[in-house]
Amino acid sequence: MSMNHHKNKSFPCDKCGLCCRNIRGHELYLHLDRGDGVCCHFDENNNLCAIYDERPDICNIDTMYRKFFSQSMTLPEYYVLNIEACKKLQGIEQ
Ligand code: SF4
Ligand code: SF4
Repeated sequence: MSMNHHKNKSFPCDKCGLCCRNIRGHELYLHLDRGDGVCCHFDENNNLCAIYDERPDICNIDTMYRKFFSQSMTLPEYYVLNIEACKKLQGIEQ
């Protein structure tokens, strides 16, 4: 009914860091690859993005939704697609 319905639900990232450690092969992330498929902004000491507040739009799920997907699906639907991608990454690494 309104956008407010989803206002307080943020993406359930468990901070595994796998997305930032596996950017190889993704054209949009090429410029971030430090050479081994890991993003040059990824901090391996704490498993977090070192530039999180200024991270590129392509790393910001809510920005990506707003800019490119809000016309074609709901935010929960977009989250589900992304959760599937996370699970796929997590399955590969197990
Ligand atoms: S792969 Fe998914 S769950 Fe893991 S850090 Fe990235 S967004 Fe979060
Ligand atoms: S900029 Fe940050 S969020 Fe984006 S891939 Fe690199 S470490 Fe991850």
